[in-house]
Amino acid sequence: MKNQQDPIVVQGAMGVETQYIIDRMTEVREEPFGPFRCVRGLFEGHALVVCETQWGMANASALAALAIARYRPQAIISQGTAGAHDASLAVYDIVLGVRTANSSAWQSHYRAAGAGVDYRGLKQLGVFAWDKGRKEFTQEVYHEGNPALLDAARRAAALYKHGRVVEGTITTCDSWNCEVDRITFLHEFYGSLAEEMEGDAVAQVCQSFDVPFLDVRIISNSILLNQDPWDLGTGPVCQEYVLSLLRAYWQDVR
Ligand code: SAH
Repeated sequence: MKNQQDPIVVQGAMGVETQYIIDRMTEVREEPFGPFRCVRGLFEGHALVVCETQWGMANASALAALAIARYRPQAIISQGTAGAHDASLAVYDIVLGVRTANSSAWQSHYRAAGAGVDYRGLKQLGVFAWDKGRKEFTQEVYHEGNPALLDAARRAAALYKHGRVVEGTITTCDSWNCEVDRITFLHEFYGSLAEEMEGDAVAQVCQSFDVPFLDVRIISNSILLNQDPWDLGTGPVCQEYVLSLLRAYWQDVR
């Protein structure tokens, strides 16, 4: 049973994805993990921890495991920027990760020497996490977002003014895809709305340690719309949304 005094951990990869929240916390204490920034404090009286993970799956999952051991958090939220996999998404739209998947977890079909490569010919593998019902590690392609966190996110969506808030699948991989055909393939193969580099790795760790998890991502770039680089203005806007999600969550559990 989670204790309501235990903090919620919010992860972001970069300063532009964490500092907005830190600036709005009180009783702030720097509690780094080695070289990684980790800040504990309060937001509107509730315990909150913000971890700046740097980019990528290994960093984010290591920081999740360390935060679970140190803080016994009520929940972990992975949030920040993402690239669109769905052409209807605009920069500043937010995607709630009803589920996440690791888009590097696949097996290709046999092809002989000289037959070339085809990334469309794949079988999904998934990654191993503890299944507490079955009491064994199971290999799963999708990890579900926590219903209570999703509920709070839905209520916060009504207040969001910078774009739409949509729900669906987010894929994670240590890659940045810029080929339209590759993105179209991923969209069809996983049913994904967006891609990033941390979420599902954290979902996997959270499932094994029975910690509620949600991935919340703002579209910072869309190769399907244009070839513009990343809009870093999205980082603080996503954090502002996460703060209203937390308010809604704390209202519920009180
Ligand atoms: N290589 C890029 C930047 C990568 S940013 C460049 O310099 O232009 C990677 C971070 O942003 C990761 O933390 C990831 O979660 C997020 N991200 C944003 N858009 C992404 C996309 N289209 N693909 C993968 N990760 C993305």
